Amino acid sequence: MKRALLDESPDQLGAWLTEQGFPPFHARQVYHWVFERRAEDFSTMSDLPKALRGAFGADWEVFSTHVTRHHVAPDGTEKLLLSCSDGRRIECVLMAEEDRRTVCISSQVGCGMGCVFCASGLKGVERNLTKGELVEQVLRLRNLLPAGERLTNLVVMGMGESLANFDPLIAALDWICSPSGLGFGQRRVTISTVGLPERMRKLAALDRQYHLAVSLHAPTEELRNQLVPINERVGLRDVIEAADAYFHRSGRQVTFEYVLLRGINDRPLDASALGDLLQRRKAHVNVIPYNPVPGLPFERPSDEAIRRFVSVVRGKGVSVSVRKTKGREIDAACGQLRRSEAVVQPEAAVAPVI
Ligand code: SAH
Repeated sequence: MKRALLDESPDQLGAWLTEQGFPPFHARQVYHWVFERRAEDFSTMSDLPKALRGAFGADWEVFSTHVTRHHVAPDGTEKLLLSCSDGRRIECVLMAEEDRRTVCISSQVGCGMGCVFCASGLKGVERNLTKGELVEQVLRLRNLLPAGERLTNLVVMGMGESLANFDPLIAALDWICSPSGLGFGQRRVTISTVGLPERMRKLAALDRQYHLAVSLHAPTEELRNQLVPINERVGLRDVIEAADAYFHRSGRQVTFEYVLLRGINDRPLDASALGDLLQRRKAHVNVIPYNPVPGLPFERPSDEAIRRFVSVVRGKGVSVSVRKTKGREIDAACGQLRRSEAVVQPEAAVAPVI
């Protein structure tokens, strides 16, 4: 099997070059081609010696995934369904809005958190994505942009629990944010987590500037236990404390995501309890009107119920925004494309890996 360029480092590539009798400085050139010049194949790297391009092509691959589906929605949202080298599938999305170009990437194949309303976790987690597979999603989407356009934002809000795949995720994000990667600002990266307190504290201790979004979805332990089963193990209170700790250490305001489910967590008393919980914190609430998943018994609240919820939370002095739904026509949300594809073409049976 060929070695995946993005799963290794410039030093590892340099060592291989030395072994093959080439100067190691070509490693920097190769990564420059991939990150800056959008090369997807060694044969296009025109300033490398021809023999070296051939040697690379024999032993290495730039991308380890291939594009199985490329959907473009009427609103311009683009979604890629990628097949990994083991046949597993992941999805990632590019959204364009005014001067923003945002990519949303997956962190795992499937998800082990089991949030009851979410399509990604229906079959559990299959495996973590590698550093290279994470970086690759960003580069493949970036390469869809017209020449000269740059990505402005990166969110880890696709399939999977981001902080359950901690080291590869941080390695990938750090690389993307480094000058030898895409030179992306850490503050333009959002890591969304179900709320794993120990991992949130570990992230705080790294002293990065990544923006943290915590999927709260309920203002009380009881309701959160029902919607986010992992809460029975971690507890809402510790999630909030870890979010506070992240804010104090990084200085970055934490966002709390709140999926609004009709008749379940959208009542005025839920809004009021949420407002009370977050009132004295420098926090922001991002309300996500539910994107219905076929086969699951949840519904999106009416626009009126959404407005009412927001105004009660805001009335408590908490900053709130409502997330716009993008790319609905192409199943762009949350593990849905992979799932609808699976009906047509069942995925290989695989043992789950935590
Ligand atoms: N594991 C991470 C990333 C999940 S996806 C986390 O839990 O934050 C990002 C957000 O979308 C999460 O808040 C998740 O709960 C939410 N989500 C999942 N399915 C959804 C759906 N069908 N409609 C709306 N939001 C959904």
